[in-house]
Amino acid sequence: MSQEPSTTSQPGPSEQLTVVAIDGPAGSGKSTVARLLAERVGLPYLDTGAMYRAVTFACIAAGIDPADADEATEVAREMDLRMDPDGTVMVNLVDATTQIRGPAVTRAVSSVAAHPGVRTELVSRQREWARRRGGGVLEGRDIGTVVFPDATLVVYLTASAEVRAARRAGEVTDLDYDTVAADIARRDAFDQSRDADPLRRADGALEVDTTYLTIDEVLDVLQRRLDGARSGPDR
Ligand code: C5P
Repeated sequence: MSQEPSTTSQPGPSEQLTVVAIDGPAGSGKSTVARLLAERVGLPYLDTGAMYRAVTFACIAAGIDPADADEATEVAREMDLRMDPDGTVMVNLVDATTQIRGPAVTRAVSSVAAHPGVRTELVSRQREWARRRGGGVLEGRDIGTVVFPDATLVVYLTASAEVRAARRAGEVTDLDYDTVAADIARRDAFDQSRDADPLRRADGALEVDTTYLTIDEVLDVLQRRLDGARSGPDR
């Protein structure tokens, strides 16, 4: 077998991988759509928001101020994280599945996610996760812009602010609509205005407004585009 010459450029992050990158604001339908699309097309699924939530949980558990960039970065680098396909999230051997969705973590997560050191660590883990599996469906805020800009399919999901708040209020049973709507507005503003990898639509991303679409309708659109991209001339 011949050796590659040492001057050969490194392969791109998603070369030969089938990667679907799904970004969008809170409540846009990312998690549901990404999970079901992954099932439909037989790819593994990664909720990258849960990873930022896990770092936040680990900071709180260790008594570290989530706003402290150096400490939070250290926590991210040292964190033992296990995410099972059934949704179980183990952080440093503690089952944090419920707590990462709770109010304390939700309040602090955008501040933790704004630290460049935390992002560098998690982006590297996300790329490694996909490489080991031959690809996957990854959802978050920077998948199409930073983690896998050359993904097979890059999607940006949106929905009206009212529909997004109603969806999240339906998921989080102990919080009322107004509280959830205020939290979403605050997090979106923070995520879109931070310096490090802000939430934005990637160039060339397929934008789907899910406000008036059923989940199946969204899935049909994405599956058609993915099938087309997989059988296209470049793949
Ligand atoms: O998706 P979810 O709402 O669980 O994400 C929680 C938070 O994690 C977001 O509000 C955002 O601050 C951060 N996040 C991020 N980049 C990602 C995924 C999530 O900054 N790829």
